[in-house]
This record gives sequence, C-alpha cells and structure tokens, in this order.
Amino acid sequence: MLSMLSFPCPESNPPTTTDLSSLVTAHGTCVDAPDPDAWFPHEPNPTGGLSPESLATRRAAYEDVARELCADCPVRAQCLELALREEYDLPRTWFHGIRGGKAPWQRCAMVYNRRRRARQAARPAAASGAEAVA
Ligand code: SF4
Repeated sequence: MLSMLSFPCPESNPPTTTDLSSLVTAHGTCVDAPDPDAWFPHEPNPTGGLSPESLATRRAAYEDVARELCADCPVRAQCLELALREEYDLPRTWFHGIRGGKAPWQRCAMVYNRRRRARQAARPAAASGAEAVA
C-alpha cells in the first residue's frame, strides 16, 4: 500500500505542478471512487440566510466530511498543494469541493495567506525603508 511518505513535498526542492497533477491523478483515492460526487457535497452558503451559528455548524460538518474522505489518501499533501497552486489566482467563488482534505473556505484562507506572504516578500525594500523612517 502507498504511504503519504512515499511522495514528500520538500520545501527546498518543490515538485512541479505537472508532477503533482500526475501523482494525484495516478494515486488519488477519489479518482476511481464509485461516487466521485461525494467530494462535492452541498456547500453551506454564507449569504443564504443562515445564522452565524448554523453556518458554523454546517461548515464544521463539511470539514469533517472532507477530513474523512481524504484521510487515507496517499497523495493528500500533494493534492492540497496542487489545489492551492491551481486556485491561487481564482476568485473565492471558484473554490469548490473537497481537495486535499480541505473545504473550499479552508483552501481560500490558505491561498490568501500565500498571497499575503508573496506580497510581503515582493516589497522588502519598501519595508526596510519604512523601518528606517520610523
Ligand atoms: S486528497 Fe482527497 S481530493 Fe485529493 S486526491 Fe486524495 S481523495 Fe482526492
């Protein structure tokens, strides 16, 4: 049986997006699942009139489903990394379904963090200039 450790995602030598896609397509648990629609459960709509408590409860249930469906997938880490790369430039409304054991809003938050870190890394001169003035 395949193991998560069979396909590491080393920070120092990250796999290409093509490599990730090939791994996920070849080994993902959902690829040959009898019910692939299970990875696309109905998403709770934050603007659908739900109370904050009800939305939180439904999101928690969705996240539980996501964790369970992908729990034994041997390429979960690679699938999540692939999803974050593919969704990096997308608007929030285009995030759908479960990928890498995460719900769309979880991945969206991760993408936002990546974008924020990328913006910070892209302006080191401006940041150091601001420190010099302060
Ligand atoms: S982590 Fe989940 S969504 Fe990704 S390939 Fe595996 S089963 Fe499919």
